[in-house]
Formats: sequence, C-alpha cells, structure tokens
Amino acid sequence: MDFNVTILGYNSAVPTAHSHPTAQLVDVKGTTLLIDCGEGTQIQIRKSKTKFSKLNQIFISHLHGDHVFGLVGLISTLQLLGRNKSLEIFGPVGIKNFINHQLSLTNAYQNFELIFHELNSDVSELIFENKKLKVYTIPLRHRFYCNGFLIQEKEGLRHLNMQAILQIPEIETCDYYKIKQGFDFVRANGEVIPCAKLTFPPEPARSYAFCSDTMYHPAIVPIIENVDLLYHEATFSKALKNLAKKTGHSTAEQAAQIAKQAQVSKLIIGHFSNRYKNPQVLLDEAKEIFAETYLPKTLESISIPQKKR
Ligand SMILES: [Zn+2]
Repeated sequence: MDFNVTILGYNSAVPTAHSHPTAQLVDVKGTTLLIDCGEGTQIQIRKSKTKFSKLNQIFISHLHGDHVFGLVGLISTLQLLGRNKSLEIFGPVGIKNFINHQLSLTNAYQNFELIFHELNSDVSELIFENKKLKVYTIPLRHRFYCNGFLIQEKEGLRHLNMQAILQIPEIETCDYYKIKQGFDFVRANGEVIPCAKLTFPPEPARSYAFCSDTMYHPAIVPIIENVDLLYHEATFSKALKNLAKKTGHSTAEQAAQIAKQAQVSKLIIGHFSNRYKNPQVLLDEAKEIFAETYLPKTLESISIPQKKR
C-alpha cells in the first residue's frame, strides 16, 4: 500500500516564477493530508492532480505567511466547489481567528464546517489518528511557536501462517480476521494457541517527519528517530550559521547533523533562501555529513517503499 509525499513547494519566504512556498501532500494508504499551505498551494494541488475532495485534514506548522497565506484561498475554493463535509485544521493558537477574520471580512459564506484544533503544547503530542495513520507534533524552535509533524503509518494485519492454521481443524475461515488482528485462538478443550504460532508479523510501519521552520534543535532527535524520510529545512549554508541562528533557521550542515543523529533513512532539504540560485551548494554541504540527502523537486512524489518484514 502506498505512502507518498508530494512536494508542492519548498521555497522560503518569497515565491518566484519557478518555485512555490511550503506545502506538501502526504498520502498514506488513501488518506491524504496537507501540510502547510503557502500562497498558491491550491494551484499546486491542481497540478498534482489530487482531488480537493480528498482533503479532510490540514496541518499548519506556524503562522508565517509563506506557510499559511494560501489557506483562506483554498477554503474559499472548496466553498465554491460546493463542499459540504467538514474540514479539520490543525495549527498554532491564533489560526482560527486568522482564518475566520478573513472569511468574515470578505463576507464569505461557508457551507461546510471548519473544525479548528489549536495547538500550544511544547511537548510532542498525538493530534490526529485514523485507521491508517497517526500524526504527532514535533515542537520546533523558530522565531515563534512552530511545530513539525510526524506521520506514522499504523501496522497492518498480521499474515496467516497457513501451514500452522491447517493443523488446527477447529479454525474456520471466519476466525481468520481475528487471528490476523493478533488474537490467540482457544480450542474447544480450552487450549490456547498463541497468535504468534499462527501468523507472521505484519510489514514494519513506515514514517515521515516534516521539520520546517526551525533552527538547529537536537531536542527533536528522539521524536524523529529512525523515520524513513525526513524533510528538514536548510535555509542557509554553514557560512551563514550566525544568520541562521538569528532568524530561527538551519544550515544545510545542521539539517544533515539532525538526520545523522536521528539515523533516518533519507533526508530531503528545502526552504532555501533565495540567495542560492543553485541549491547544489547546500546539497553538497549536507551530503558531507549525511550521504542520503536529496534536493526536492516541485510536484515530485516521493514514495516510501513497503519495508520487508
Ligand atoms: Zn517561518
């Protein structure tokens, strides 16, 4: 089953003709989440050929414009398209006012409910869960309150060991689902056959961590440890380390250090300052520390492959 991250935009504050501010779609087995919503995100969603109707949860890292200015436009479009199901928005305290104020000033009538989940915790917390995934916050250190998001796939069902199953005649086909869920089987004589004897483990769950915007903040390492894919901002090169700290951002070297400490499988860097006409310099810097570093491409869909059990 699929686990894909589509980079809709990865630019820093100022949009350019060929790059867009931060926004990503994360699709886990058919559940599609939008993370951040910089200006123009709805056009990028169109280009990605994702149906607006698939969006039910939006996660906003912080209230800087390059991460949120596209949200009211997207909500307005959803309304024009006749949406009637509710939409959940997770973001810092203030986001409800920020959106409702704009909707009210523009006299926008909403035919669907906006459910705001305002965040203010400084510790990682579970903020959303469905049958397929969980979303946790990753408290970041920026110029003001900001969260990254950890998306964890839930483990699937266990796999039946048919050779073992067929040796227990009382097990009927209708028992399979419970066994796959992890329940032991109790024979008519009361003997308990442990589930582990009747099944193989499911494929390991996959995970993705989005960390933007933040200065170098090793406190996030335990939260993002061993993720399959990490997106970490790398606004500056190490030559501008002081400026990075002052503005609440990271260098490419620091992003790579976080990836290395957390032993992630793969790192994508982004949110580059416009001063870097070619981000290769940032990639080279990061790769010196963490070889599995890559540059994002707009509208590229990155697949996290199913891991072997
Ligand atoms: Zn910011």
